[in-house]
Amino acid sequence: MKLNISDTYNKELPSDDNSENTRRQVFNAAYSSVIPKKPSNPILLHSSKELAKELGLEIQDLSSKSFLEVFSGSSIYPNTNPYAMAYAGHQFGNWAGQLGDGRAINLFEINHNNKQWAFQLKGAGETPYSRQGDGLAVLRSSIREYLCSEAMYHLGVPTTRALSLMISGDKVLRDMLYDGNSAYEKGAIVCRVAPTFIRFGNFELFASRQDFKNLKKLTDYTIAHFFPHLGKPNKTAYVNLFREVTQNTLDMIIHWQRVGFVHGVMNTDNMSILGLTIDYGPYGWLEGFDFGWTPNTTDKQNKRYRFGNQPNIGLWNLLQLANALYPLVEESEPFETILKSYQKDFEIKSLEMMRSKLGLFAEKDSDLKLVTSLEDCLLAVETDMTIFFRLLSNYEKGEPLRGMSIVKDAFYDSDKLDENIISGWNDWFKEYDNRLLEETQIDSQRKKAMNLTNPKYVLRNYMAQLAIDDANDGDYKLIGELFNLLKHPYDNQPEQEKWFAKRPEWARHKVGCSMLSCSS
Ligand code: AMP
Ligand code: MG
Repeated sequence: MKLNISDTYNKELPSDDNSENTRRQVFNAAYSSVIPKKPSNPILLHSSKELAKELGLEIQDLSSKSFLEVFSGSSIYPNTNPYAMAYAGHQFGNWAGQLGDGRAINLFEINHNNKQWAFQLKGAGETPYSRQGDGLAVLRSSIREYLCSEAMYHLGVPTTRALSLMISGDKVLRDMLYDGNSAYEKGAIVCRVAPTFIRFGNFELFASRQDFKNLKKLTDYTIAHFFPHLGKPNKTAYVNLFREVTQNTLDMIIHWQRVGFVHGVMNTDNMSILGLTIDYGPYGWLEGFDFGWTPNTTDKQNKRYRFGNQPNIGLWNLLQLANALYPLVEESEPFETILKSYQKDFEIKSLEMMRSKLGLFAEKDSDLKLVTSLEDCLLAVETDMTIFFRLLSNYEKGEPLRGMSIVKDAFYDSDKLDENIISGWNDWFKEYDNRLLEETQIDSQRKKAMNLTNPKYVLRNYMAQLAIDDANDGDYKLIGELFNLLKHPYDNQPEQEKWFAKRPEWARHKVGCSMLSCSS
């Protein structure tokens, strides 16, 4: 396995001068050098050929001994210096101080086809930032991260990628429900890949300590490598950086709303500076359309990170980033202007996204009303979001009274469709039909466009859980099956029709399906 190593983060940014791997506060440093823990018996369960190709790896590399060794943490790739990043963050709305890579170890960066990629092992052992944790990850959460990051990529949602999923051969103790019932689970390691893993929290760490020298170094580094078009670092470039991060973050969240993804832990340490979906923990997919839903039981009380609140939280997190960057600019007005425009841009982009889900090409004043009345209908009884939008593409102009029969499979309990609700839906279909008269596209064109924006297959919460249950019993086939299914989320895959179905009733309240804690 030959990689074109091109380290930048650990070459250009200041290192922790203490080389001991002990838990502590780390000052004046962007990272600490650390060596992954040797797993006792690593086994490769799956790898992403699509990503390997983008990274310049050969298919035969994936089954090589060196791949197994390097991406399980058993051995260090020659001439590289693994490290854990220092960052801080706001968690659930509160300042949490120093956090850092407590169980992620960055191996190296490569350059391939003029693209920079950082490789990181999640679950490869403790670091100076591990606090009370063990630096390890369990198989269930690793399967969830592995499958979901590649699925998101194929859905067209900005995300970090996953190259490989391994079991370590070691046992990991977890109290899955935080109820005092700890048990040993299989340990696992995922190799994640992204241009960089820098988060909002990296900037917050230096700003909180008034370490403006390193804040500037980190920001200049970020611009030079990931926003080079912003030019020489100066106050204007810093403001422009913030503007781009704001736009990228908003675009990412609009994609989440489009596909029904709920991140679950939008803490500022889980916000990528590139606007990538990062840190797949207790995330979930909407089944019944519900603005109030969150999969994260740790957030059950306040539901801070519920589906409908993700855009607001994006803004809140950006405000924290603005505060962190402020010392480099020393003027608040440019930041305020950008933050103010977020709200307006959100409304515009969100409506644009909903138009695309409805197959509308023109822009009409009445569109917002059409969307809000649709949301009212979707919320009236439990309606599967993915199935509804996919079936809606079968709607034929001029037949509003047939609308309900076209989408009927999206309702979880048709007995709950009382007269009122049915008449609400019929009214909506009339409104939709009238609106379609203002379009020039024919039904088949609209259907084609809708099926490119409304996925047929997403990683429903229970699907990941089925793969996890099998894997805990030593059967890893379903991981590969779901991986292949989710490579083509917008295509009809007739032999996979069983996954185009509502969540089965048994999964409604099953742990891991609708309820997940942060334990991973
Ligand atoms: P998360 O909620 O996964 O984004 O993690 C928040 C913080 O806790 C980060 O600093 C993680 O590195 C750290 N962390 C989470 N799990 C562990 C673990 N098992 N061992 C050490 N640190 C952890
Ligand atoms: Mg995190």
